Amino acid sequence: METVGLQLPDKINLAVIGAGPHALTLVTHLLKKHPKIRGRFVVFDPSGKWMSRWQQQFAAFNIPHLRSPAVHHPDPNRFALRKFAESRSSELFPPYDLPGTKLFEDLCADVISRWDLNDRVIPLAVTRIQPVANHFRLWFDDGQSTIARRVVLATGNANLQIPNWVEEIESEYPQDRLCHSSKIDLRSLQLAGEKVLIVGGGLTSGHLAVGAISKDAKVHLMIRRQLQEKLFDAEPGWLGPKYLKGFFAESDLEKRLAMIQQARNGGSVTPAMGMQLRREVRNGNLTIDENCQVVKLEWLGNNWLVECSDGNIHEFNRIWLSTGTKFDVTTEPLLEEVFAAYPIPVIKGLPVLDTYLRWHGCELFIMGGFAALQIGPTARNLSGALMACEKIVPAIAKPSFVPIETNNVS
Ligand SMILES: Cc1cc2nc3c(=O)[nH]c(=O)nc-3n(C[C@H](O)[C@H](O)[C@H](O)COP(=O)(O)OP(=O)(O)OC[C@H]3O[C@@H](n4cnc5c(N)ncnc54)[C@H](O)[C@@H]3O)c2cc1C
Repeated sequence: METVGLQLPDKINLAVIGAGPHALTLVTHLLKKHPKIRGRFVVFDPSGKWMSRWQQQFAAFNIPHLRSPAVHHPDPNRFALRKFAESRSSELFPPYDLPGTKLFEDLCADVISRWDLNDRVIPLAVTRIQPVANHFRLWFDDGQSTIARRVVLATGNANLQIPNWVEEIESEYPQDRLCHSSKIDLRSLQLAGEKVLIVGGGLTSGHLAVGAISKDAKVHLMIRRQLQEKLFDAEPGWLGPKYLKGFFAESDLEKRLAMIQQARNGGSVTPAMGMQLRREVRNGNLTIDENCQVVKLEWLGNNWLVECSDGNIHEFNRIWLSTGTKFDVTTEPLLEEVFAAYPIPVIKGLPVLDTYLRWHGCELFIMGGFAALQIGPTARNLSGALMACEKIVPAIAKPSFVPIETNNVS
């Protein structure tokens, strides 16, 4: 998608940081509700494109289809994906019509084009959000800055969870021989004849195991509990009143957090992935070590010597940490100055936002995993993006919102 001709305005009415599925969902919903906002908002993403990180992640892990069903997508018309897939039904996977990766990406490209959003992403990374009077000064990676009246943070950024034993490694080792899953791109790896240890029991572990095996590696999957099989990240009851009613009725936010943790309950694979993994175990390509953890490891110069909690010792060429991410607003660099200017309560890394997902005291809105206390366990998912829009859009489109032309903010 071309970004030629896009200029950084001096003043912006609404700045959206990030151009992933959450930002795209917000923008289409805003335009539907408030068409005049076109021309008054700006989206920033270093890629200069919509959906770049999403596409990169799916391609890097060779993921054939989404985990979420066809109703979850960035278009305000909830049937948009089904309609788009009318002539492509083979790209909806059982159970519950999970969209194929290409189908979903094509739908998003169609949404971007139908809503005339192709040239709306400015290729800059925001490096600072500096509160100034009632506005924000946004600073960019190229040294420029601009003033924004309202900001929506939709960066999807989270901290990588790295097990303690990684910090205890005494010897130097090549970074690509031990890395977090987010750093892996299966497309560029030669793995024939290698032994790979994958740590963690989520769906990413499954994709990585299947991908490595398809490249003729032998895989060892180590999970600190038993392999869990679940259709979705969290039960569908979390998308509606069945569970959300009780969730919102709970005023003790520590208890809300416990409900979120219980609902997501660590990583899990889909039943289809579970079946694929068991087949690879039968074929001799995969070992699954449940209730087991790494105790100690040593880099021997060409491979790893790994001591496990069950007393076994193994050698591996590579170790991949499929140990997930953690949302912690207190360590998000972009929010440092916002915190200083507008201190708000934080419950174990999650900010206490108002019902519009707004940071108390200022016009900063937060989407994604950071909004979990107000959205529930699916905040980071596509369904969470829709729920976030239902809260943010009325605040931005409300009568007191006086639209000001770009370059003309008072
Ligand atoms: C492999 C994988 C598969 C998933 N599959 C599903 C699924 O099937 N269904 C589902 O519901 N959920 C799924 N998820 C969870 C979730 O929907 C995705 O993580 C989704 O990409 C989150 O969207 P997002 O817009 O919040 O973040 P992202 O997709 O990460 O987009 C955020 C964008 O912000 C940009 N950005 C970051 N920092 C800055 C900055 N400082 N300045 C400007 N721009 C910035 C990034 O470049 C990025 O493009 C999956 C997650 C992963 C990792």
